[in-house]
Amino acid sequence: MAAADALAKVRNIGIMAHIDAGKTTTTERILFYTGITYKIGEVHEGAAVMDWMEQEQERGITITSAATKCEWKGHTIQIIDTPGHVDFTVEVERSLRVLDGAVAVYDGVAGVEPQTENVWRQADKYNVPRMCFVNKLDRTGADFFRCVQMMIERLNATPLVLQIPIGLEGDHIGVVDLIGMRALTWRGETQKGEDYAIEEIPADLAASAAEWRDKLLETLADVDDSVMEKYLEGEEIAADEIKAAIRRATIAGKANPVLCGSAFKNKGVQPMLDAVVDFLPSPLDIPAVEGTALDGETVLLRKPSNDEPFAGLAFKIQTDKHLGKLTYVRVYSGTLESGSQVVNSTKDRKERIGKIYQMHANKREERPTAQAGDIIAVQGLKQTTTGDTLSDPANPVILESMTFPEPVINVA
Ligand code: GDP
Repeated sequence: MAAADALAKVRNIGIMAHIDAGKTTTTERILFYTGITYKIGEVHEGAAVMDWMEQEQERGITITSAATKCEWKGHTIQIIDTPGHVDFTVEVERSLRVLDGAVAVYDGVAGVEPQTENVWRQADKYNVPRMCFVNKLDRTGADFFRCVQMMIERLNATPLVLQIPIGLEGDHIGVVDLIGMRALTWRGETQKGEDYAIEEIPADLAASAAEWRDKLLETLADVDDSVMEKYLEGEEIAADEIKAAIRRATIAGKANPVLCGSAFKNKGVQPMLDAVVDFLPSPLDIPAVEGTALDGETVLLRKPSNDEPFAGLAFKIQTDKHLGKLTYVRVYSGTLESGSQVVNSTKDRKERIGKIYQMHANKREERPTAQAGDIIAVQGLKQTTTGDTLSDPANPVILESMTFPEPVINVA
């Protein structure tokens, strides 16, 4: 596969949420459905009565990596840890800088909460395309439409409601897909391996579904000219055209697809993953990253291509029990080779690249090289700290233009 084709199938995303909205549960379910924690279909007989949670605990799967890779329908999804629980913005801003799109997870009872509001505003600043997942619809007091209204009022968002819930609280069994005009249901005691059933829209939701589909097309027409034309002419708009328009509007930051469900009850996660692939950008969809030459003034652009000189941003440093210091790097352009020499252009120091690792939730994989769009961990960097740019020594560039306040360290 040509590099550009492969890059078009990459989604570097963050999941942002107020504490307790379900970020961990949603991430864990994503890793499950993408086959990291279990290979769906490989489960032996009796799976239906298996206690999935217990098994998981036994395996002790926790997501501690700053970036975790998984696969969904021929696409690579990299989940970059986005701290949503802190008010100090440095780490949040840096993670927003290295991701291409985000999923905001909401508690369907509490709606839009302050920490989501903070991160949402920071994401506005960096033009991060976003979609929304209204979680916990099984909880007492869940109100999907109130949450959507809060997105408009508190976040100044333009929600594109793509689903409405079927039932709430104990009766929450699925969603109406407003693009396909069909019901997706997870009935009974949903096990995590279970796929959804596709059904007719329940009769009592038919009018509401028609109304919300119309609202979807109307909102989409407001932000997309080709939909506007057809909408005004009263022409039928095919599902593929609707999806393409949603993708354009989302990537342009003009609108936010909204989906819903209950991660904990295993409802709504697979369609949400489809939406990540369908609507959030690949590294090719975002503008070339802008930096400066070493003079700090001359503007340089780095396109997401392997033909460009190497440029990457160190965004997180972690200490691994076995590997020691690992520096997480987002590669924006060119190729990074293990064993090669690069320049830390921020500090004007040479650095030798040790081993390069692709981090998964439960394993790491050594790679000889990393390319544009990749997010990897590098061993062996001695002087690099977060926010530093690494680049091709012959073509140095400084990517981090943000000035962060130095953290105050209190020495007792
Ligand atoms: P985080 O702080 O955003 O990472 O939230 P967690 O994923 O840790 O979830 C916080 C709590 O809410 C945990 O007790 C979860 O089991 C619970 N939770 C998460 N998703 C759901 C859901 O869809 N429904 C219900 N009822 N509880 C949920």
